Amino acid sequence: MSIKYADIIIDISHEGVDRPFRYKIPEELQSAVQVGTAVKVPFGSGNRVRNGYVVALADEANWDVDKIKEIKEVSERALGVEGKLIKLAEWMKQTYGGTMINALKTVMPVKEKVRERKSIVDTRDLIPEFAPIEELEPQQQKVLDEFISSPDPVYLLHGVTGSGKTEVYIRMAEEVIKRGQDVIVLVPEIALTYQTVARFSSYFQDSIAILNSQLSKGEKYREFVKAREGKTHIMIGPRSALFAPFPNLGLIIIDEEHDISYKSETTPKYHAREVAIERARLEGAKVILGSATPSVESYYKAEHGQYKLMSLTDRVKSATLPDIRIVDLREELKQGNRSIISKALYEELEGAFDRGEQAMLFINRRGYNTFVSCRSCGEVIKCPNCDVSLSLHGKAKLMCHYCGHTQTMPDGCPKCKSNMIGGYGVGTEKLEQEVKKLFPSIRTLRMDRDTTLKKGAHGEIIRSFREHEADCLIGTQMIVKGHDFPKVTVVGNILADLSLFDSDFESSERTFDLLVQAAGRAGRADLPGSVVIQTYQPEHYAIISAKSQDYKAFYDYEISYRELLHYPPIVHLLAILISSDEETTLSEVSTALAAFIKNESMGTVLFDSFDIVGPTEASIYRINNIYRKVIYIKSEDNDRLVDISRKCDEKFAELIQNINDKTVVEIQYDFNPMRIL
Ligand code: ADP
Ligand code: ZN
Ligand code: ZN
Repeated sequence: MSIKYADIIIDISHEGVDRPFRYKIPEELQSAVQVGTAVKVPFGSGNRVRNGYVVALADEANWDVDKIKEIKEVSERALGVEGKLIKLAEWMKQTYGGTMINALKTVMPVKEKVRERKSIVDTRDLIPEFAPIEELEPQQQKVLDEFISSPDPVYLLHGVTGSGKTEVYIRMAEEVIKRGQDVIVLVPEIALTYQTVARFSSYFQDSIAILNSQLSKGEKYREFVKAREGKTHIMIGPRSALFAPFPNLGLIIIDEEHDISYKSETTPKYHAREVAIERARLEGAKVILGSATPSVESYYKAEHGQYKLMSLTDRVKSATLPDIRIVDLREELKQGNRSIISKALYEELEGAFDRGEQAMLFINRRGYNTFVSCRSCGEVIKCPNCDVSLSLHGKAKLMCHYCGHTQTMPDGCPKCKSNMIGGYGVGTEKLEQEVKKLFPSIRTLRMDRDTTLKKGAHGEIIRSFREHEADCLIGTQMIVKGHDFPKVTVVGNILADLSLFDSDFESSERTFDLLVQAAGRAGRADLPGSVVIQTYQPEHYAIISAKSQDYKAFYDYEISYRELLHYPPIVHLLAILISSDEETTLSEVSTALAAFIKNESMGTVLFDSFDIVGPTEASIYRINNIYRKVIYIKSEDNDRLVDISRKCDEKFAELIQNINDKTVVEIQYDFNPMRIL
């Protein structure tokens, strides 16, 4: 049998050529060309040399044998991927729209030269030794046994904070590797999970491959080669680790499966959880989704029998869940306390510091003040490029968190010239200053985007705090997840309802997650913990159920709200974002598109809960001088949404044909977005 032809996808991100083209394989390349090989081929009438990927092999020409072109050479650029990964790319294209070439680029590691950097901090260098744990606790053992003996492909492990999930993951991985299979462990963002990585690597030592966002493309490629060649059987990393080209995948573990970083922000806007489940299906592997606060979507699927639910209800070593108090900030103000730290929190902190213990304080805004305004005329200083207010950093620097614009704080109000301007709204810097004022002798550390810009800074803060070089860690949501600091007994949430203000169908879910995860940092070892949640909305169900650490109560409330309003996971949601630097063009194009979609969907509406909302202005209408509008479509059938997105693309191309070349107009599709745009 002779395979002489190959179907090749051309590396041009353009719908028009998004189909395979058949090429002849020259004699000398016959053994080198396989499914997944990257090649160079002549393309188009000018025969320009283009890069492409082999997606299939064939033994005959599909048109004139004399005219069919030949592959020019095999490029060393990419690893040949398994047919399975190409199938996965195909599925991603089907599920999230977009082009095959884009999907392929997502699943295929691109080879780049490895530049050895002396400065790179290997997380392993900073890792404290973790003593191996001798015996699992009975409830951990039960979960492990269930996993080993059950045939189910997908498991949701709901385990309260401190219940020893990481230890269970390690045993599961060990079990799978013993059988000669490979394991992928996804963690939210390497920066957030320093300790998870540390524990895995102290267990698997040098046999573990680690990806993190600080690795260059070349270094990442090198880790992928290790996986490909069987030099490692376990890879840990953020969502892109999902595509590690293991030949014999047995298990994918997704830690903190509810985390928002699992959703890709670039096209294809895939969700790592969904892609993991599909990859596992294609390769006969299992998937573990673990969390103390499972996504509403995963819990819904577990309740409907799609995933097997397993639970860890108690903390290990009989540590108890912390005692949680809610402070109503309106009452605090009435009683004359103008500090951002309530009386109750002050007392807890004082106690902890006196006893030589540690505390963590959390507020989800960085900077000193979140906005600057004029007390005389009410003017708020806004970014010149975006519809958002500028934050104050340090004493005099104003910064836009969306486009990066910075300017110095003006002497007077830009509108009425009064000198009554000042900063309001608390950020991490101001919180740190307040703590220092109230407790002059204690040592603080601050962790937010501003203090972690330098490579390795994040790990260094964690190490320093863990070794008790500071008494109080202050930060944004970076400090909330996954960390295990045995001496932390007090956790304070300075303004719990910040995330509730987003007008967003997932804002309650995110608030509940953050509160429970933050509370989970207190009292994890022998010392009992206490948590203070400060809020203006003490009666909100996300806050009440976080206080009682009752996931199920929260879920039941939340799912009935989603059912009522037809939000995911009850239906599929497609967000179409249209953006332009020209407002009139934006309005015309988005209105025409919405009308087109309505027209397209006529007739089928009766059979589905098909629903179109918009076009409406995005929640931030202008970012970096680009205006944005959104159309939402809800349907019970994801395939219909993909179909609509493809039709929209054609219509969009038609609509913008006559628009001035200089005008920027773009369209983006987001399937099941994590938040309202
Ligand atoms: P989770 O990820 O569920 O929040 P962890 O995996 O971080 O919990 O475990 C909490 C702490 O308990 C860690 O310090 C871990 O080393 C410890 N631990 C886990 N399992 C056991 C066990 N079986 N015996 C003793 N300590 C354990
Ligand atoms: Zn003014
Ligand atoms: Zn801006």
